[in-house]
Amino acid sequence: MNILEKFNAMNYGPAPEARSEADAWLAGRDFSKALYIGGEWKAAASGKTFEVHEPSSTKLLAKVSDAGAADIDAAVAAAAKALPKWSAQSGYSRAKILYAIGRAMQRHQRLFAVLESIDNGKPIRESRDIDVPLAIRHFIHHAGWAQALDKEFPDHKPVGVVGQVIPWNFPLLMLAWKIAPALAAGCTVVLKPAEFTPLTAILFAQICDSVGAPKGVVNIVHGGPEAGAAIVDHPGVQKIAFTGSSEVGKIIRKATAGSGKKLSLELGGKSAFIVFEDADLDSAVEGMVDGIWFNQGQVCCAGSRLLVQEGIADALIAKVKARMAKLVVGSPLDKNTDIGPLVDKVQLERVRGLVEAGARDGAECWQPDCPLPDTGWYHLPTLATRVSPANILAQEEVFGPVLATMTFRTNEEAVELANNTRYGLAASVWSENLNVALHVAPQLKAGVVWINGTNMFDAACGFGGYRESGFGREGGREGMFEYLVALLPYGAAIKPAADIAPSPEAGEASPGIDRTAKLFIGGKQVRPDGNYSIAVQDRKGKVLGEVGLGSRKDIRDAVSAARGAKAWAEATGFNRSQVLYYFAENLSARADEFAMRLSALTGVSPKAAREEVEQSVERLFYYAGMADKFEGRVHQPPARAVTLALHEPVGIIGVVAQDEQPLLGFISLVAPALAMGNAVVAVPSQKHPLIATDLYQVIEYSDLPAGAINIVTGRSTELAGVLAKHDDVDGLLIVADADTCRKAEAESIGNLKRVWTSGGKALDWSSDLAAGEAFLRRAVEVKNVWVPYGD
Ligand code: NAD
Repeated sequence: MNILEKFNAMNYGPAPEARSEADAWLAGRDFSKALYIGGEWKAAASGKTFEVHEPSSTKLLAKVSDAGAADIDAAVAAAAKALPKWSAQSGYSRAKILYAIGRAMQRHQRLFAVLESIDNGKPIRESRDIDVPLAIRHFIHHAGWAQALDKEFPDHKPVGVVGQVIPWNFPLLMLAWKIAPALAAGCTVVLKPAEFTPLTAILFAQICDSVGAPKGVVNIVHGGPEAGAAIVDHPGVQKIAFTGSSEVGKIIRKATAGSGKKLSLELGGKSAFIVFEDADLDSAVEGMVDGIWFNQGQVCCAGSRLLVQEGIADALIAKVKARMAKLVVGSPLDKNTDIGPLVDKVQLERVRGLVEAGARDGAECWQPDCPLPDTGWYHLPTLATRVSPANILAQEEVFGPVLATMTFRTNEEAVELANNTRYGLAASVWSENLNVALHVAPQLKAGVVWINGTNMFDAACGFGGYRESGFGREGGREGMFEYLVALLPYGAAIKPAADIAPSPEAGEASPGIDRTAKLFIGGKQVRPDGNYSIAVQDRKGKVLGEVGLGSRKDIRDAVSAARGAKAWAEATGFNRSQVLYYFAENLSARADEFAMRLSALTGVSPKAAREEVEQSVERLFYYAGMADKFEGRVHQPPARAVTLALHEPVGIIGVVAQDEQPLLGFISLVAPALAMGNAVVAVPSQKHPLIATDLYQVIEYSDLPAGAINIVTGRSTELAGVLAKHDDVDGLLIVADADTCRKAEAESIGNLKRVWTSGGKALDWSSDLAAGEAFLRRAVEVKNVWVPYGD
């Protein structure tokens, strides 16, 4: 080849990263003793191991100890033993350990990167420049949170022993996202890496040992789903943090229901990559390369759905194909490689199967004409066009290098298509018009939105999903809360509600006036669907009135009224605050009447009743004031970008209130939800519902838009179940007996709604701890919008 031919071809020569250090590390270890428990290296009690293969050569890399139930027991026991000292020691001393871990990782940065690429198949440029530096930053960033814990998170304590289960796509980075905040919060951990990629976690355990992390603070066990399930089910664990598929996330939600374990789930996605016609198309194409071909598309937040405005679709697709033809598919250790192998044969077969199914559904699947290496689990980058919204490639998470394309005409249509998925992890918006981009971003149901960018992450910026992409955030302040528990004023256990029979004179008017309170749905007082009512008695059994017996149908009506109350979610915080102040004012004007009613219903002294009403007014006032103050933050990550951590309403929140303090308990749950712009479907105290039905008139006079608050009286256990199963309800706040709480958690898996329960206990709502940010945080989703700047 002469110089001119070489110039025209512009091919890169091979540029392999040296692997000798990693090979020496692999050769020098006994992987049959790879469980790191209580600061010691152990074999599995059963002696079993599992095989780990190299995706690019398919060769055996190691046989790693396969933990069974006995090993998980030992790891949890070690973590529990280390917990008291670790959580009690000063934040500064914990900070020093986190910092030392980060610094030691820095010193072994290259070994980590090469090992990660060998084990997972990801191109060395990615592991070297993204995964490992971000993991290090996570530890160093969290050293600061450890030291600042007491000042930054008052009225909180560490959750305890944490079980953490992670996937194979970012083995070291996911480990860092899990372990760093847990240690900073004063927790101890048992972490299980994915069975395909255990190697960098073993190196990490070595690092913990070398920096003198106290024994038992970090325990790392290996194995597959059974080992994961043993951690999830272990009674000695107080929190589960899981990253993985939505399918397994749902299993874990169900398995932990009623256990009192705190739970965070970082699950799958089908993220939209939206290109408007005024976008810089060349930048968008480069963004797409990062968005869908980064890590071979095995990225939870991969921009796997390209939504392009019709007028530029042909031009963009032509550019994408030209760029795809230049992608270098090859050895992960070659510095020129853009696309390495998939992690395992199983994953390769899954991706092939989905591409074939998509083509059968009518998609046109295009791949560049590019040779594949002779060995390894490689899949060519694939572009699917003519994809209908119902096509499997538009709906299912492929977790491979496959981009599904659809077109849209208007901004509204773009938003509708983007949100047409059960997931809600991330989205990219491309437009040179920042007004359009910032108008679209809040309308996207996704936890992270990148404007003119993609796949940007930072330890200071929360990451996590909406909907079936899970709940909880990793990174930053939000991430710290996942490892802390708010000190709430829990009281006695709540007894299961007695069954109530419809009253004999169901729905009939008493002589003179109709004393039957109806339901409150869509701003109107309506009869219950079944037309039954129930008698409400005072403490001595005297009937004080009747209320409607709400049913499944009434809850459904209430939810659809709530869904219609868009004006409330879109109102400004100041606007909401004024309405809630007015609500408080109107309640205050009728304080005597409410106090008398409370006293008659519950039998408390007139003074105590008066106090409860006054506290209810005060609480409404507090949340009215917070409506325009509990705001997001602006982060300044180490990139040319600002990240807006916006507080958005969760959506529709179902509330079930306790019998004790029936007015204050009701207001204390409903008000924070309303303040943050949620629509509420509330089930008041089953025993004393008249105090809530008396509120109808107060609400009617308070300018709350129709549907913002809906009240359905009846059997609280049954109605809680209906709310939990309803896939259009986004969150639940439930104070009820243990079984009702457990069922609400277990039955929420349809759409993975956010559930907070009191775990079967009553709360003393008169305590200051029962008001405040703990409940406001439950009423918002944090959306991180990344806005890069500069040329
Ligand atoms: P997976 O759910 O099959 O496995 C994840 C982990 O869970 C593994 O360690 C596995 O051994 C373990 N596991 C499997 N079954 C279990 C059970 N019943 N109980 C307890 N543990 C169990 O997922 P995967 O195939 O390893 O990873 C890919 C998935 O992870 C994708 O859906 C991807 O979107 C998701 N992911 C999400 C994020 C995020 O932050 N949202 C990040 C990375 C990956």
